Amino acid sequence: MDILQVYKCVKCSKETFPQKLICNNCGSIDFIMINSEHAIVEETSIIRHMLGSKDWKPRKIGSVRTNKGVLLTVGLSDEVVSGDKIILFQKDGAILGRKE
Ligand SMILES: [Zn+2]
Repeated sequence: MDILQVYKCVKCSKETFPQKLICNNCGSIDFIMINSEHAIVEETSIIRHMLGSKDWKPRKIGSVRTNKGVLLTVGLSDEVVSGDKIILFQKDGAILGRKE
């Protein structure tokens, strides 16, 4: 389980995820990685079917805004609801959130 990292523009400090080649705020191409551990859940939904997947189990996802202001779509554990403060982490390349 790894802490999620987002990209911060060296020049104007705008934070973004996933990484962009060029900062859409100032045009810089220099980014550093910073930890982004917390987010607030803005909206949740359930993915009930996945094309091409036979053994798919319904999975909760949500739009979350990190403490750095970056909006992400992440996988959520079942008990998470809109308005919750969550911890973000990465597992097998996916970004996930769980209650604090
Ligand atoms: Zn910038």
